[in-house]
Amino acid sequence: MLIARVASAQELGPQIQKIAEGIYVYVGKDFNSNCGIVVTQEGVVLIDSGHNPTDSQAIAAAVKKLTPLPIRYLIDTEPHPDHTTGHFVFAPPAIIIAHQGATQSMLDRERDAPGRIEKLAGTSPEMRAALQGYRFVAPQIEYRDKMTLNVGERSFQLFYQKNVHSEADSAVWLAKERVLFSASGIVVNQINILRPFVTIPDILAAAKMMKALKPEHVIPGHGIPGTAKIFDDTEKYYALLLERVGKLIKEGKSLEAIKKEVKMPEYDKWASQERMPSNIEAAYKAVKGN
Ligand SMILES: [Zn+2]
Repeated sequence: MLIARVASAQELGPQIQKIAEGIYVYVGKDFNSNCGIVVTQEGVVLIDSGHNPTDSQAIAAAVKKLTPLPIRYLIDTEPHPDHTTGHFVFAPPAIIIAHQGATQSMLDRERDAPGRIEKLAGTSPEMRAALQGYRFVAPQIEYRDKMTLNVGERSFQLFYQKNVHSEADSAVWLAKERVLFSASGIVVNQINILRPFVTIPDILAAAKMMKALKPEHVIPGHGIPGTAKIFDDTEKYYALLLERVGKLIKEGKSLEAIKKEVKMPEYDKWASQERMPSNIEAAYKAVKGN
């Protein structure tokens, strides 16, 4: 007979936070990506695979302490390397699921950054050791718009978020448990990176949709797990940014002038201030309606 013995918080290490019964988060240090660990009666489901392979190895070790059951699925909230380089640690046997476009995004990055893995291995002896056996592993399953994954007693609802961060952003909702993995379109106490295809109206639409789920726990792709307050914080930040940029557009200022002029002192303490110009540019496009 299999006797389940759940490891204590100390045994799991300081980066593992318990969210609910059987639901844990490996919280990335200094805004590194988070990884969700969801234990079911029929195996484990991971949401993302850790920022770096050193994280992925720590996650694999933590899962072994939580349950003798295998990791059956790995859901990617996005295809960027800080969520997917560690795929090889889990698959096989884990089956990787992502939104349509994830594989192409991963292949494009792989092509554009030759030597990426060797460079990463050079960052520390621990990283080199964690990269032992590295292979490029793309998702086996790509869904479109919505998907339900039932594993054991749990149900995972995956839904696509358009133009919020990457080419394939997925939120993962556990309705019964009221736990939401909200992906990287909305971050916590940090200015987000807004790529040229990302739009503020799409981010706000995603925030509204996720808030309407009424989650009890919200685990962003990056940042400390919290509650639906992170959506309120995001709405307030973009509302103020749109207002300030809009005012200067009305005064006839150019984008370049606006980039120099707009200040957001209320958010001075948020991390990644160097991303502000990309935020101002996105606000400019949103106000102009393109
Ligand atoms: Zn990313």
